[in-house]
This record gives sequence, structure tokens and C-alpha cells, in this order.
Amino acid sequence: MRVKSNLPIPWRAILTRGISFLVLFLLLFNLFLSPPHTTQAGEYLYIYALDVGQSEAILVTTGGKTMLIDSGSAVYSAELFYGLARYGIERLDMLVLTHPHEDHIGNARLLLQRLQVDRVLLPPIASDDLAWQLLLQAAGERTETLYMGDSFSLGHAFFEVLLTDEPGSNGDLNESSLILRGVFGEQVFLFMDDAGEKTERALLTQYGRDVLDCDYLKVGHHGSGSATTMEFLLATTPAAVSISCGRANSFGFPHPRVLADLETLGVHIARTDLDGTVVFGTDGKELRRISNEEGGLGQ
Ligand SMILES: [Zn+2]
Repeated sequence: MRVKSNLPIPWRAILTRGISFLVLFLLLFNLFLSPPHTTQAGEYLYIYALDVGQSEAILVTTGGKTMLIDSGSAVYSAELFYGLARYGIERLDMLVLTHPHEDHIGNARLLLQRLQVDRVLLPPIASDDLAWQLLLQAAGERTETLYMGDSFSLGHAFFEVLLTDEPGSNGDLNESSLILRGVFGEQVFLFMDDAGEKTERALLTQYGRDVLDCDYLKVGHHGSGSATTMEFLLATTPAAVSISCGRANSFGFPHPRVLADLETLGVHIARTDLDGTVVFGTDGKELRRISNEEGGLGQ
């Protein structure tokens, strides 16, 4: 038996149309609310040079993924964990350690204890240093050794190891640092860690200007005068740099020559000794220095 609706015809039409609009509205609403996980559109990448005194820790976030390049010195563990908590970092997809010096690996074991860390990426450096050995033990199966030419992704960002020396070939751990080149959209970042002139010359010989040309440069060796030569700056032509160094540090970093060269070339200089944590953000097209109150996980 067919049940006849007792609603008059116009009311049925209005109700049907209303439901259609509601369904359409909910679909569109859901579409706009969905985070852009599957596409680069609307995704950001943030670089934080964390204020860890006279040491170094660079946080990179994009598409909800997190990577920490170096962990800072144990003397500044409070500053490191404050910095990570401030930006909502509860886990790290990757912890990259560029070379076994305390001002870069000092908090690494503590990080492995306190945070979930999925991958620990290390240079192919053999060191008898006790801290390094304990770190290898703590990282266990999460350890991956990076060699020249290796690459990995962080969200939609792509990172490549430009240079790292084979163990024992150098003797100078600073010049054996992992050199990372990051690409996100049209933006290129170069992380020089503690490398100096020798590594810069090797990079210039090994790679063309097309590879070294970057938008952001993490200045080598805390702004030391033995790094960041004018020749290297002319090849890399960064729009902005960050320098990780402590307030009134005893080394006199950053060196006046480095600052003068950067100023001559009109490069934007961000310094952790003067500015505290410095943050850059990019949508893949444009790089912006943003306030250290801003930032996020890049989604
Ligand atoms: Zn250092």
C-alpha cells in the first residue's frame, strides 16, 4: 500500500532542496577543513634556528613532519626542550647529527629518552668518543648512516647529502660535517653545519653554481672567520642566513669579516645571539622571516 505524504507539494520540494543544499554545504565545508596532506598546495615549511646558546640545533617542520638537525650542547638542554615544546614538537621523524662534537650532539641521548624519535641519521664518521658510542647504542636500529649523494624526504621537502668525508680521511671533524641541501617547491636551503673554507672549496669544485645556489644558508661554524668566504657567498647567493651562536661568546662569533661580507651582498642576517630563536617560513615560492611567536608543523 502506498502511503501518501500528508505534506502539501510545495513543502516537499522545499524540504528536498533544503536537504540537497545541506549535503552540498557539508561536503564543501569538509573539503575546506581537510588538511592538505596529499598536496603541496597550502603546505608550509618552517626552519627554526633554536636559541641554544653557543651550540646548534636547527628544527625543520613541514606537512606535520619534523626533523632536528643537531641537538645543541648539554649545557643548553633546558633551552632546547623549551624551544621544542614551544613549537609543539612531541616527536621527531628524524634526528640528524652532523658530526660528533658536543655542541651538536650534547642532547641527543636525552632527546631519544624524552621524545619519540623514528630515525637517527648520522655521518659516516668513526669516533671513539664515549658520548658518540653511547649515542649509537641508544639509537640502536634507528641508526642510518648517510653518505655523499644520499637523499631523503620530509613531507614534500627533499634533502640531499652534498658532502661528507669518509671516516679518517680528514682528521678535522668540523670539515667532515654532513652538508645538507634541502628543496621545497622553488626554495633551496643549504645547511653548512660546522664546515669551513676547506669544505666550501670542495663543494665549489664538486658542484656547479646551480646546485649551490640557495635561498637560505645556515652559516657554517657559528659564523667563524674560517668559514663563509666571499667566494662561497658569491656562488650560493642566499637571500637570508641564520647564524647560531651564543650571546657575547668567547670565540668572538660571528666574525666581523663574515658579517661585513654578508652586509656588502645585502643578505638578510638572523642571529640567535641577538634575536633568540629565529624562524623562517616558506610556501615553496617565497621565503619569509617570521616572528618567533609564529611557526608550526607546516600544515
Ligand atoms: Zn659547532
